[in-house]
Parts: sequence; structure tokens; C-alpha cells
Amino acid sequence: MGKTSNERENLICSIHILRSGSIPNFSPESAWKTRSPNLAQWTKDFLVNRRNAWGQYLPKAAHGKPKVVTIREKDLTDEVLMRHFIGDCRGDLIGLHVASEETTCRWIVVDIDLHGEPDEQLKNTNFQAALGFYDRLRKRGFNALLLDSNGRGGYHIWTFFDAPIPLTKAYQFSQWVVSDWEKLGLSEKPETFPKKPYLPKKNGLGGLVRLPGRHHTHEFYSRIWDGSCWQEGDRAIDLLLASTGDKPSLIPDEVSAIPLDPTTNVFQKADILDLLSKEQREGPIGLVLSRLDSVKPGGGQWTACCPAHHDRDPSLSIGEGEDGKALLWCHALCDIEDIVAEMDLKMSDLFPKQKGPQVRSVPRRPYPTHRYYPRRRKENEE
Ligand SMILES: [Zn+2]
Repeated sequence: MGKTSNERENLICSIHILRSGSIPNFSPESAWKTRSPNLAQWTKDFLVNRRNAWGQYLPKAAHGKPKVVTIREKDLTDEVLMRHFIGDCRGDLIGLHVASEETTCRWIVVDIDLHGEPDEQLKNTNFQAALGFYDRLRKRGFNALLLDSNGRGGYHIWTFFDAPIPLTKAYQFSQWVVSDWEKLGLSEKPETFPKKPYLPKKNGLGGLVRLPGRHHTHEFYSRIWDGSCWQEGDRAIDLLLASTGDKPSLIPDEVSAIPLDPTTNVFQKADILDLLSKEQREGPIGLVLSRLDSVKPGGGQWTACCPAHHDRDPSLSIGEGEDGKALLWCHALCDIEDIVAEMDLKMSDLFPKQKGPQVRSVPRRPYPTHRYYPRRRKENEE
């Protein structure tokens, strides 16, 4: 009564497990810990695109939810990978970048999110769409993996290759996988990794995907779809470790017809800049807006996706100060320095050239106070 088809499937699976008599590790937590060496090796074999940069989740910060920092110029060691799977601390969790130093990829990921409060109906819609993408890949012979990433309607579909493929091809392939997202009932196109067919800035790393295992905010370990039901703990890990990369030659020819530049974004951005005065266009505000995605104007301000965190629901507010300086405020509380760095700008770029203070005297946080954006979003305390 009132169970989703998903839950019924789980019930059936639980009965199978009970009957089969094998005793898996007691909890998902202990399974992921115990098998961390194998998981680290498997990750190294199939998922690591580069060893000189990765995303490290921070344990809960004093005033916000955990964030990811990019670690550069260090070696992504087996120990770092193992610590992720052991997952003793959220600060041990990591995400991998989609692109190598040679601008190639070894995998793509489709990321279906559920924003806001838990919602059974939306969760089921997402699940059905995830199954649709998964089936599409499986029918073409890919060993795609479908992961329940948070138990709340967030799903990841991974496809990985036995040899690196160009970023552009990986991007086209990811767009091909999600091309019928509307038909599958989603209200917005799911995010894909790679997000773009090129790396947006010099030394760019591409997007970042958290490795399977412990979730970074909820008490949850990835579950994996075995084709008819969800598996967790040991059985989920069995499915992961049994998966080896697919041949890039499986990628359908029609993929190469997918446009490399999603024109909608380009036009959007041009339109936004057209709405500015010449002075604005050539000033800090024009510069900032030209570096951001999904910019929308409204009431003399703008919103955009924050480049410093995983942002699909634009949470960066951009305003213009009376003196022409660009004001930035991320509602997920990203540091202004991170946002500016992700735009490949310097703090001094936020100030008009003529009147701008010297770099040394740039205040650490030149974003508006609460008077400018009156409501600081309350973070969920855990
Ligand atoms: Zn942010």
C-alpha cells in the first residue's frame, strides 16, 4: 500500500537475499570500508583522468554546508582514493574531474538531481528517466552503471571506456544519452559530465563528479541497480568491480552530428550583454557577466550559476555598485575569492579601472552586505 514500484522491487530483492543464504557485510558502511583497497584500484584503473588535481570535500564548515576544494599539484595517491571509500570523515570524500591534461575523458556521467524537499512523485519521475537513459546505453551494449546517489531521487549514470576519448566526443555522447529527457518526463535537462565540449578556461579541469560511496551530506551509501533491483553494500560493490570499460567504438556514429556549441547558451549570453550600456559592457559588470553561465536579468540585477560550486539552480546574484564595481553573492555562501578565481579573474577586476583601489587595499569580501541582499539564506544545520 502506497509503496512505489521501486520499494516493491527492493522488498523482492531483500527476500532473494534472505533465501540465498549468503551473508554479506553487515552494513553498507562496513562493506565500503572493508573493500576500499579494491575500490581504490578499480577507480585508478577506470576512472582517474588526471592525478594532479581532484576535488576534496571539506568537512562541514562553520557557516555552511560542505564544499569542495580543488587540490592541485599533488599526486592523487592510492591512499587518497582509499580514504574516500573508507569514508570515516566527510573531509576524506573526493570527486574526480572529467578531463585529463590531454583534454580526454575516460567516462561520462549523467546527473539527475532532485532539488528541494524530498518528494516521492518527483523521485519516481527521476528514477524512471534514469532507467530510460540506462536502458538506452545498455541496449547499445554499454556496461552503464546506474547509481542511486543520495536515496532521495538523485541518480548518476556512469559509462566508462577502456581507452580515453576526446572531450568533444565525450560531450557529444553525453548529449546523445540525454537527448530524450523531455519524453522521459523530466522538467529540465539533466546535467552531464562533461558539461561542455571544451575546457572553459586555461588550466580548466572540467566538471567534477563525486566518487561512489558515502554521501557528502546525507547518511547514505551509493546503491547500484542490477538490472531489476537496487543493491547496496557488498552487492553494490560487486557490481562496480565487475564493470570494466567499454570500447569507444560502441559510441554510435550519429553522436558526431550533435552540435558542439549549444547555441542557446551563446545567444543568451550575447543577449544579456546587449542589454548593458556601453560603459557597463566595458566595465566590471560586463566582464563578470561574460564569464558566467545561465545569466538572467531581473530588477537591475542578474542571477547566474555560481562557478565555484555544483550549481544548476542559479544561486549567484550579481549587482552593480554605484561606483560601477561588480557585486557578487553566492547564496550557497561560496567565497568571493573562489568565484572570482573560477571566472579566471582577479579581485581587482571587480572594480572600475579608473577609480579602483590598489590591489593591496581590495577588501577581502567586497560583496554586498545584508543591506544589499537582505536575506542571507539559512543553512540547514545537521
Ligand atoms: Zn557558489
